[in-house]
Amino acid sequence: MPELPEVETIVRGLDQELRGETIDSLEIFRSDPIIQGDPESFSEFLCGRKIKAVQRRAKFLLFHFEPVGGMVVHLRMTGKFTLTETKDPPGPHERIWFQLKSGRLLIYSDLRCFGTLECHESLDAWEDSKKLGPEPFSQDFNAKSLRKRLRESQREVKPLLLDQGLLVGLGNIYASEVLFRCGINPCRKGKRVKLREWEKLVDETRSVLNEAIEKNGTSISDFRRVDEKTGEFQNFLRVYEREGKPCVSCGMPVQRIVQQQRSSYFCPGCQV
Ligand SMILES: [Zn+2]
Repeated sequence: MPELPEVETIVRGLDQELRGETIDSLEIFRSDPIIQGDPESFSEFLCGRKIKAVQRRAKFLLFHFEPVGGMVVHLRMTGKFTLTETKDPPGPHERIWFQLKSGRLLIYSDLRCFGTLECHESLDAWEDSKKLGPEPFSQDFNAKSLRKRLRESQREVKPLLLDQGLLVGLGNIYASEVLFRCGINPCRKGKRVKLREWEKLVDETRSVLNEAIEKNGTSISDFRRVDEKTGEFQNFLRVYEREGKPCVSCGMPVQRIVQQQRSSYFCPGCQV
């Protein structure tokens, strides 16, 4: 599943390409991704809308229209947008075609069809209704509030980092990487993390995410950019999916454990 850097990479690609474009018409081949209303009203809402910007909130893609309204997309496992100038017959996983006024075609494909698309008259109202946690780059994500909130927490720190109410956008890959850089064992209880460690964790979270965005995300499964190129951050991972390989810092073999049905990778030498 794409995490924050992958969604950010996709959003930046879409924003660059789609700003100022107008949606002319839609062809819906499979309507399950449309989770709100019927396909006809979805199509009606979108036709004639001019795209002001494409932005990200948590792992959602927000298409802002001019003057108001928007489309909210969550790609889940395999949702994907591509842009093309030619009109070949739809591929097997192509679900929705957005015909643009410029003549280009924006294609939403989704192999497993877990992705979701919905339209709203107000994106602010949508966001209020979701009660999302703070963005990692916002001031609301800080050591003091983490320490205050988790000083009694019996939960382990790795699952805590995946809790989207505490912080949005961090998933399995980057949570393992952040904890490695902080020297914190993924099984450590939240209450055992000291204030200065939370400070480091906030800093390292931002560093890891920024580095990954710079490398256009991590292409481990089938993540692709809008231009179909892969990300490169998979070449810079220090523990994730490196079970048995020597730690880049101390040489001890990296271990894999399972926490809440998710794999966590860590170095038993460096992370306490
Ligand atoms: Zn180590």
